[in-house]
Amino acid sequence: MPDCAAGKKVAAFVLTEPGADSDASHQSTTAVEKGDHYVVNGEKIFIMLGDVADLGVLFCRVEGQSGVSAMMVDDTTQPGWQARTLKNKLGVRAATAAGIVLKDVKIPRANLLGELGHGSEYALATLGAAAVSVAAQSIGLSQRALDESIAYAKKREAFGQPIAKLQAIQWMIADMATRLEAARGMTYHAALKQDAGEAFSLEASMARLYATQVAAFCVDRAMQIHAGYGFIGEFSPIEKLYRDQRALEIYEGDAGVQRLAIAENIIGR
Ligand SMILES: Cc1cc2nc3c(=O)[nH]c(=O)nc-3n(C[C@H](O)[C@H](O)[C@H](O)COP(=O)(O)OP(=O)(O)OC[C@H]3O[C@@H](n4cnc5c(N)ncnc54)[C@H](O)[C@@H]3O)c2cc1C
Repeated sequence: MPDCAAGKKVAAFVLTEPGADSDASHQSTTAVEKGDHYVVNGEKIFIMLGDVADLGVLFCRVEGQSGVSAMMVDDTTQPGWQARTLKNKLGVRAATAAGIVLKDVKIPRANLLGELGHGSEYALATLGAAAVSVAAQSIGLSQRALDESIAYAKKREAFGQPIAKLQAIQWMIADMATRLEAARGMTYHAALKQDAGEAFSLEASMARLYATQVAAFCVDRAMQIHAGYGFIGEFSPIEKLYRDQRALEIYEGDAGVQRLAIAENIIGR
């Protein structure tokens, strides 16, 4: 893992399956104990950088054990790790996404992470922490959309004056800035609770849900302000922001899952 932090190795989070869903406990990939190894068979989908990863944290069921377990795959060059790059990804194109077929993949038993059968908890803890970072990604994307919109509105002239002088444009910018401010406050609040070691899952899910909605709002308004120059990527980054934003509402626990988590926190299971 220090090699990953240093950028020398690429790691993947290998949870989602084609036949499974947003429920982390719903795994059909299976590991069978054979001597000092597990032999793993199954299939994974949508794995970010799974086609170029040197190692991965893999979630699966261990035969004869209840629950989901987590283990480290540290050899993705073995023939059983069959990863293919998924085509035509809408956004976040700086990173690939992969489908992975696991055919008798050998993982040393020493690579079991934590305790057998506790993998769902580890996955949910990872996704809980990721909620704050996805909220922060949304803040960054919204801020860029706002900055680009202000700069463009000041220089673009229509009907003989900069469009920034038009109240219709000013109100779009005011709405973007206001929602962004609220989303930033919620994100900092969740992050501060996380840093302080306090329970933060409710605040993280709320921040993520709202910040991703704000990002959708901001890129939509930025597109409208840039109009034709927003729609064509050669003229502005708005076309890229528009595509990238959509993933924020899907990966690492989508908007529906955040609502479930919020409701569970408030109402109870
Ligand atoms: C760009 C990208 C990168 C990704 N990276 C990774 C990665 O690195 N590793 C990884 O393991 N996965 C990754 N994923 C997968 C991602 O986490 C899943 O796509 C996501 O969790 C949703 O699962 P699903 O697509 O199976 O949707 P489904 O679970 O099939 O959901 C379909 C719809 O039903 C709704 N829904 C489902 N259950 C409920 C419920 N109980 N109540 C209300 N609504 C519900 C959902 O909100 C959604 O709208 C990535 C996905 C994308 C798009």
